Formats: sequence, C-alpha cells, structure tokens
Amino acid sequence: MDTRMLIGADFVAGTDTPETILNPKTEETLLDLPEASPDQVDAAVAAAGRAFGSWSRTTPAERAALLLKLAQRIEDEAEGFAALEALNCGKPRHAVLADEMPAIVDCFRFFAGAARCMHGAVAGEYLAGHTSMIRRDPVGVVASIAPWNYPLMMAAWKLAPALAGGNTVVIKPSEQTPLTMLKLAGLIAEIFPEGVVNVVVGRGESVGQRLIDHPGVSMVSLTGDIATGKKVLTAAARSVKRTHLELGGKAPVIVFDDADLEAVVEGVKIFGYYNAGQDCTAACRIYAGPKIYDRLVADLSSAVQGLRFAQADDSQNDIGPLISARQRARVASFVERASELDHVEITTGGRQAPGRGFFYEPTVVAGARQSDEIVRREVFGPVVSVTRFSDVDEAVAWANDSDYGLASSVWSSDVKKALATASRLQYGCTWVNCHFMLTNEMPHGGIKQSGYGKDMSMYALEDYTVVRHVMVKTV
Ligand code: NAD
Repeated sequence: MDTRMLIGADFVAGTDTPETILNPKTEETLLDLPEASPDQVDAAVAAAGRAFGSWSRTTPAERAALLLKLAQRIEDEAEGFAALEALNCGKPRHAVLADEMPAIVDCFRFFAGAARCMHGAVAGEYLAGHTSMIRRDPVGVVASIAPWNYPLMMAAWKLAPALAGGNTVVIKPSEQTPLTMLKLAGLIAEIFPEGVVNVVVGRGESVGQRLIDHPGVSMVSLTGDIATGKKVLTAAARSVKRTHLELGGKAPVIVFDDADLEAVVEGVKIFGYYNAGQDCTAACRIYAGPKIYDRLVADLSSAVQGLRFAQADDSQNDIGPLISARQRARVASFVERASELDHVEITTGGRQAPGRGFFYEPTVVAGARQSDEIVRREVFGPVVSVTRFSDVDEAVAWANDSDYGLASSVWSSDVKKALATASRLQYGCTWVNCHFMLTNEMPHGGIKQSGYGKDMSMYALEDYTVVRHVMVKTV
C-alpha cells in the first residue's frame, strides 16, 4: 500500500526519523516509516490554511455530499480497512469488520446530515433599532491528534465533525498505528478539494508538538493520555488556541445485589476486555453489592477464562494482544503490584501469555480496595478489579472518587434505583444494565481529567464551530 502522507494535493514520504511499525500479534516489523520533518508539518498547516477560505464557504449540502461519498468508499473498502487495522493493532479482523467499520461509516453519514441541521438562536431585536443574529462558523485549521486503540474510528470521530463544520484539518495518527489513516488519505484525496484534509505521521514529541505549537493552527483536538492533554493545554495557553480533549477513563461498574448476574457477567466479560481492555470506557472497576459479590467474582472469573486469544485461526479470537511490549509490561506491573497486597486475589489470569505477540491473559483482581492503585489508575489492558461495597452511598462515593469522569454503568433490576444512582454519578455517560453502547446521535466525552470535548452527536459539531454575533443597525 501507499504509505506516503497527504500534504495539499501531494503524496509525499516523510523525510525525518523512521518509526518502526509492528504487528503486535507476531512482534514482526511491518515497515519503517519516516516521520514528517518540521518543514513538512509547516507545509501541511499552510495547505490547510490556504484551503480554509473556499472550504469554509461551501454550503452544508456541498460538504454533506462529499462526506457521504467518503462514507460510501469506506463502506465499499471495509474488508481492506478491517484487515489493515487488524494487522497494525492486532485486533481480531472479524471484530473490526463487524463492530468498528459500520460505526465509522455511520459517523461520516451522521455528520453529513448534521451539517445541514445545525440550529442557532433566532434573529431578533435586543437593542432598539438593531437586529442581532447568531451564526455558527468554522474555527479554522484544526490539528487532530489520534491514539492507537481505535485508529480509524478516532480519525472518523475527529474528521467528520470538523469537516462538516467547515474547518480544514491536519491529522496525525498515532506513530504506532498510522496505516488505516494513510489508506484513508488515498480516498480523501480523490473526494475532497486540495488541502482540506492533510495527513502527517510521526511521534508526539516531534510532529505532534510542532502541530500544537503551530501559529497557523486555530484548534487542537486530542484523544490521548491525560499527560498529553496537559501538554496540549500548555501549548494552547501560549497562543490561546481552542482545545478539544478526550482523555483517559476508569469506568466504575456498580452492581447491586438485585442485578441480573448472568447479564452482568456477560456484559463485563465483553466490555471489560473488548480490544484487550485498551478502551477508555472499559468496564474495568467493579463495585459489587455485599450479597452478589462472591457469585460475581466466581462466575466472572470462570467466564473470563473462556475468552479466546492468540489462536492461529483469527476468526476464533475474542480479543487481541496489547499494542506493544511496553504496554504489556505496564499492564503486568500493575497486576504484579496488586498481587503483592494481602487482601487481593488474582482469581484468573495475571500472567503474560507464552509465545509470540504482546498477549496478556484476561485477568480478574478480586478483593481490591478503593485506595489500591489498581482501582485508581487506568491500566488500559485486560484487567478488571472487583471491590465489595456495603451500601449505595458508599458505592456512589467510591465511583465518583476518581480523577476520571468518562463512562460508568449501573446494574440493577430496580430501574428507579438504577436511575437515582445514575443521577448521582459524575461521568460523561452512565449506562444502565449495559455498558459501552455507543451511537453517533449521542455524545461521547468526559468530565474532570477525562477532558471536555464531545465526540459524535450535534454536540461535537458545536465543539468544532464558534458562535458569532452579527448585528445590523436597522434605523
Ligand atoms: P498518548 O497521549 O500517548 O498519544 C495520543 C496521541 O498524542 C498520539 O498521536 C501521540 O503521538 C500524540 N502525542 C503524544 N505526545 C504529544 C505531544 N507532546 N504533542 C502532541 N501530540 C502528542 O495516548 P495513547 O497512548 O496513544 O492512547 C491511549 C490513551 O488515550 C489512554 O489514556 C486512553 O484512555 C486515551 N483514550 C481516550 C479516549 C476518549 O474518548 N476519551 C479514546 C481513546 C483513547
């Protein structure tokens, strides 16, 4: 495949330090990809700046038509995208094809429609003799910086609302997972005018940092770590840029004694371990009621033992490996430190899987306490902790006692109790009797240190546009 970057109308190879791109399932090198030089980053921003004038003045219908075309091309090539994402991330190919690709296509389709349905306040006379109107206009050049856990989906979440809103974009995929974005660049170049979307590759500290510092960039959109979010804010403070931050998560899962145990076990087995737990909404921090706790630990541990990975026949795999040796070592060190605590029991997993690939066994950490590191910090691996609570106030207090505020869930057969509990949780999203259900019409985004940008939904379109007041003297 063509692994060149897209700058303006040109496909160009990076000219700076190469990054080794691995297959996490085999640990083999897929390719060495040179990153963008500072001049190439500048050229991408300049191309986006030049394109902004005409792109920002296209009608919503014109933008929608191109977004729909892109959605169709992605759908037509879904098999190829899924195979490439599976290769670069280690995910089971069938999971990418069934779960991620339809959501990605739908994201572009949703924002094609959303662009045409933006509403504002009505025009009116708020000062005698003057008519005021509110406009929603594009921000300018957006620098979009994506993580490695869902590379193409994160690209869709960033590109679709930014383009629908009339912005031009320079997007940088994660240095570890650039391949699907580079394939997407080929389709984008066929559909969108020159410079509307530019793709540069490279590491965060070089290419990413140059982008967020760039005077030609009006807004930075990041999905990534809290530490990276703070760097974006520091850079933005120097030039007063807009920011859109989607940072980590540590989702609490409150399971009341009256919950449907089978449904909880099935839900956590899937959504605690989906994408090998490398998911900011992963159902990774369970608080179980005093009566259901023992059965939940036992049933979850045996269910999790049934998760399949590292099978030669990929269609048999439920989850893939971690993204890198470094990420696996990080996950292993969290579990090792937890296992040294007397009150903790690793009821299943807890080891690096033998053989090639960055696999780690799906793990349940039972008996964890609220103050334990495993309960407090984002592990970003196939590891779920279970903590016993005594009453609802304790469960809510512990769930909210976190730096993170992205996603949460409540499980109970009493919908009134579940809703009352949901209303007390400080999270961008609370699911009741389910977890990790996303739809493009609804917002995804956090509070507290999980950030404040909304992805998907009309709220994302608001984030990628600015409110402007135009006043006309009428007398
Ligand atoms: P990361 O912060 O290390 O990297 C994210 C992106 O930021 C990469 O493209 C990286 O190159 C870039 N980057 C790093 N340093 C930079 C700098 N100084 N300047 C500019 N860019 C820089 O995160 P990651 O390890 O790729 O992804 C995992 C993290 O992302 C987890 O914390 C996870 O929770 C979070 N995440 C959040 C969401 C969400 O929706 N809230 C979704 C997915 C992932």
